[in-house]
Parts: sequence; C-alpha cells; structure tokens
Amino acid sequence: MTLSQDTFRQVVLRVRPTGMPVASDFAIDTVPIPIPEEGEFVVRNLYVSLDPAIRQRLSQVDSYAKLIEIGGPLTSTTLGEVVASGDPKASVGDHVVGFHTVAEYSLATWTPLTRPVDLAAAASPSNHLSVLGPTGLTAYFGLLDIGKPQPGETVLVSTAAGAVGSVAAQIAKIKGCRVVGIAGGSEKCELLTEVFGLDAAINYQGLDLARLTAAIRQAAPDGVDVYFDNVGGIQLDAALDCLNLRGRVALCGLISHYNAAGDIPPFTNFFRLIAKTARIEGFTVLTYAEQFPQALAELAGWVADGRIVFREHIEKGIESGISAFLRLFDGSNRGKMMLDLQGE
Ligand code: NDP
Repeated sequence: MTLSQDTFRQVVLRVRPTGMPVASDFAIDTVPIPIPEEGEFVVRNLYVSLDPAIRQRLSQVDSYAKLIEIGGPLTSTTLGEVVASGDPKASVGDHVVGFHTVAEYSLATWTPLTRPVDLAAAASPSNHLSVLGPTGLTAYFGLLDIGKPQPGETVLVSTAAGAVGSVAAQIAKIKGCRVVGIAGGSEKCELLTEVFGLDAAINYQGLDLARLTAAIRQAAPDGVDVYFDNVGGIQLDAALDCLNLRGRVALCGLISHYNAAGDIPPFTNFFRLIAKTARIEGFTVLTYAEQFPQALAELAGWVADGRIVFREHIEKGIESGISAFLRLFDGSNRGKMMLDLQGE
C-alpha cells in the first residue's frame, strides 16, 4: 500500500477480544493526517512500543489508561518527531516520547508523560522506548522502590528474559543480590545465566504449582527476599510459598491473567504474607514521572559500563503491528517489542 502525503495508517480495534486476542480482532485503517488546533501537535512516529498492557485496554476491565473504543486506534508509548504544532512546548523538529496512538502519525497533547528526547543520547533511538524508556524505568522503580533489595538477599524475577524482567534482574545483580529468573523455555533460561548474568534460571513450562515451588526452593535455597512479578498465576503463588520473613513482592504485571476468559483460580499461598509478615505492593511506572530524569541517568550509566545488557525485538512497518503485538502472549518476542516506522 502506498501512503499518500495527507493520510496515514493506524492499528484499530475491530472486535473486543474475549480470551486470547486474534489478528481478526484488529484492522489497519487509513485516515487523514490531522491539523493540530491550539494546544495540540502532530507526531510522526519513528518507533512504537508494543506493551502487554494494551491488552487490558481492549477489554472492559479496570486499567490505568482509558479503554480503547471499537473502531478506535490502539494506544501506547511512541517516540516521534513533531511535524506540526499548535503548542509552544512542542516545536516542529523536536523528538518526544509520549502516550500516543499505534499509528504512523499521532495527534497529541503535552501530558505529564510527554518527554522531550535527544536522539543522540542513546546508541539507537529505539533505546528511548526500551532500557532508557518505560521498560527500564518500570524495572528501576519497581525493583528499587517497591522491592528494596539489600546486598546478599535473594531476588526472584518472572518473565526474566523479557523487556522489564531482564532489566529488573540485572539491577538486582548490580545491588549485590543473588538473582533467580523464571522464563519460558530452555533458550530463554540459557540467556538468563549466560548473557544477563543471573545466578540461576527456572523454565516454568509444564510445571504445576508443587513442581515450580520445588524448583524455586532448589534455585533459591535461602528463600526469596524480593519477588518482582510480571505474571501472577501459579508463578506468584509459588513465589509466595518461598518468601522469607519480611519478604517483598513488587507486583508489576499479571500477564498470565490478561487473556483469561473465565474466573482466575484463587491463590493458595496468600496466608504466607501473614506468616512471614511480608508485603505485596502493586505499582505503575507512571506515578514516578517526576523522578524519571535521575533514574534515566543512572540506567544510562549502567548501560554504558556494560552492567545492563538488553534486547530489543523490532518489527518493521505498521502492517506488522498486529502480529507483533500478539507475539507478547505466545512468548515468541525476544526483548522489548517495538515497531520501527521509519521509512514509512
Ligand atoms: P515481555 O518482554 O516480558 O514479554 C512478555 C512475556 O510474557 C512473554 O515473552 C512471555 O515470556 C510472558 N508471557 C506471555 N504470556 C504469558 C502467560 N500466559 N503466562 C506466563 N508468562 C507469559 O513484556 P514486557 O517486559 O513489556 O512486560 C512484562 C510485564 O510488565 C507485563 O506484565 C506488563 O504488563 C508489565 N508492565 C508493567 C508496568 C507497570 O508500570 N507496572 C509497565 C510496563 C510493563 P516467557 O516466554 O518467559 O513466558
């Protein structure tokens, strides 16, 4: 499809999914490029972050962002160049990260989440959406502010080969902890110990609650002081059973629940929070916006000196948006899932 000068393409919701979303729930629409009114600006998106949380915004469930309308564009974080502006804060030619539409162009307003970026400040512009963007920031604040890991403690991380998990796990290593990662499959587990430098890895695939709990006990013989959870389900249940006295659970995400069509099975080990005087606390990275500059500086330092390595999974073109998003839920993404829209 050739894009004319005054139209652009966006990924829209066609049917509200129940359970696992499928490609036919979405469509690619072509619409006119808007003209910004006062207080608005138009961004030509260079990279779009595809996040599991988009799934929550597709259904009638509580979410920290607005529900996506049927026929409306998906929403996510993008990095783009301002191409037209009715807002003095956003000049044509500026690059900004913000919460926009999954589209080649987005009509935007300046919000607390809008952040000007210097493309030259990272090895690749895409890094501003991954390790030096929401992904790295989520790992940073969730682990350090909620998990509060101390040197010598044991930290357990789920989806440890994924975008947020891999950074959280490596920050825990930087803080002097023993770090155990949980991931799906032997290839990902090898990545955890051989590339990300974790102390042990657990492949959860095919394990029931009892076997997963046993695997955590074996990999973390001194128990778990901090659990950074991206998954919920039996991974959370098993981790609760292994918590130490005054353990902390940083509840970052619940991806195993996002596509659950029926009732979610109850947790059996919640009483451990009482018995171990432990704490479970959810968080969203959005609430830390004022502290982003300091955190980004520290993350950039760790990346520069090689103490954090990271993976990006970048697919090209808006037409890849639907299949790329779905890969988050079959585990076939290999790092921070993004779309590269340059050259569109
Ligand atoms: P990832 O790069 O980790 O990709 C998603 C991974 O989740 C998959 O690769 C797969 O890894 C795992 N997964 C998918 N479906 C299931 C399932 N049914 N059961 C168990 N694991 C599954 O994604 P992100 O790093 O972008 O996001 C990770 C988590 O962080 C998500 O829960 C997300 O919602 C949350 N998040 C929270 C934020 C906050 O502010 N609280 C901000 C950003 C993200 P594997 O093959 O190892 O199973």
